Amino acid sequence: MSGYDYDLITIGAGSGGVRASRLAASFGAKVAVVERSALGGTCVNLGCIPKKLLAYAAHFHDDFEDAAGYGWTVPTPSFEWSRLIQAKDAELTRLNGVYQRILENAGCTLIRGTARLVDPHTVEVDGRRLTAANILVVTGSRPRVPAIPGGELGVTSDQMFHLPALPERVVISGGGYIAVEFAGILAGLGTHVTLVHRGHAVLRGFDEDIRQALGAAMVARGIDLRLDTTVDALRKEGEAVISTLSDGTEVAADLNLCAVGRVPNTRGLGLDEVGVKLDEAGAVVVDEDFRTSQPSIYALGDVINRVTLTPVALAEAIAFANTVFNGNEQLVDYTNIPSAVFSHPPIGTVGLTEAAATAQHGPVDVYESRFNPLKNTLGGRVERTYMKLIVHPKTDRVLGCHMMGPDAPEILQGMAVALKCGATKRQLDSTVGIHPTAAEEFVTMRTKRG
Ligand code: NDP
Repeated sequence: MSGYDYDLITIGAGSGGVRASRLAASFGAKVAVVERSALGGTCVNLGCIPKKLLAYAAHFHDDFEDAAGYGWTVPTPSFEWSRLIQAKDAELTRLNGVYQRILENAGCTLIRGTARLVDPHTVEVDGRRLTAANILVVTGSRPRVPAIPGGELGVTSDQMFHLPALPERVVISGGGYIAVEFAGILAGLGTHVTLVHRGHAVLRGFDEDIRQALGAAMVARGIDLRLDTTVDALRKEGEAVISTLSDGTEVAADLNLCAVGRVPNTRGLGLDEVGVKLDEAGAVVVDEDFRTSQPSIYALGDVINRVTLTPVALAEAIAFANTVFNGNEQLVDYTNIPSAVFSHPPIGTVGLTEAAATAQHGPVDVYESRFNPLKNTLGGRVERTYMKLIVHPKTDRVLGCHMMGPDAPEILQGMAVALKCGATKRQLDSTVGIHPTAAEEFVTMRTKRG
């Protein structure tokens, strides 16, 4: 070591920070990790994990409804929000402990407090100065709060995980991942949901057919979907929060959830002062090795605002640790990143949308399938699954794969491997299906869309 207290100081113990620190330590680096809040970051505490636990809770609604068709007599189910939140919190506390042990077992020093950069090699944590050869900024992101009149009356996803009670009526602004996921969770638990989105369909950036299919499924599930509309103001009337919409209508609810994107956590870190460049969105600018404009300072994950997904932060952390502490430069491949939306029904996607594929390659072959899943037959539910393959007409390469329906995220993980390996449509066709599943549709689609 070179006269510094540490080889690496990591600011932020979220998914990316913990993975990078643990790996760097395994390569022999002396590592300190600074965190002021719960270990595990957004994913563990206010994102992926609690969101999915809440989504599981909401799915029981369908299961109770469908059980009768399978011969079950289910007494009228009742739901207690406080028990769900308690159980969820107990699981998160367990996970916080897991993250602490991961860091301890790796030999990292955990420092509790708020970090601020003093110079390119010095971090101050609540008055205490620590030096390091390298500093990694992995401070994540936070919900964006729009500047509308009464905006402070709204809540963000952060508060949704600790509401004192399940609200009866909610207005959600936004049409991205968080908006549609909470719409499904809340509607499944019995809340009346109005989702207000400025676009013509939810989930901009996803394949248009998937966007339309999810919109229709949300409406069929009783969600009041207001498209091409924005929430322009909030005000309080008694206990109710009134949302004034751009079409002049007003919607009264118990709360307004604002889910209009997230912003990188770069404020108050002293980045500017030590010469770390930020872009116009406030994200840290890095090169392909995650080095900032200040050579001893690196950043990755949500704070660089490239692809703000936990598994991408993990991939970036692995590449960073290998490059900087293992003498083995690794670059992250950002192509064919699969993702899922845990909406009701869920979505899984990998590769290009039809529009993007057409723009890049000209006319493409499209294969699609719409069907009511077998489980729905006796359950009496009608909710069609939608699956779509986009294929290059000359090379036969599968360019995109999209699905909305039960288990879509689970199914798409395997399809992501296929696309990563450069699978062709012919190879999918020659794969034997697993019967009876929905997944087998991906290897049995024979007819091109006309
Ligand atoms: P998204 O970027 O996904 O969506 C933001 C939504 O807000 C869009 O519908 C956008 O509309 C709308 N919006 C933005 N600005 C305004 C505005 N001024 N007025 C009205 N509407 C506006 O953000 P989220 O907050 O939903 O999620 C943040 C990120 O977290 C995601 O992008 C994703 O990377 C990650 N995430 C991933 C999940 C998963 O993997 N399952 C789950 C949850 C989050 P428009 O489309 O027109 O821009």
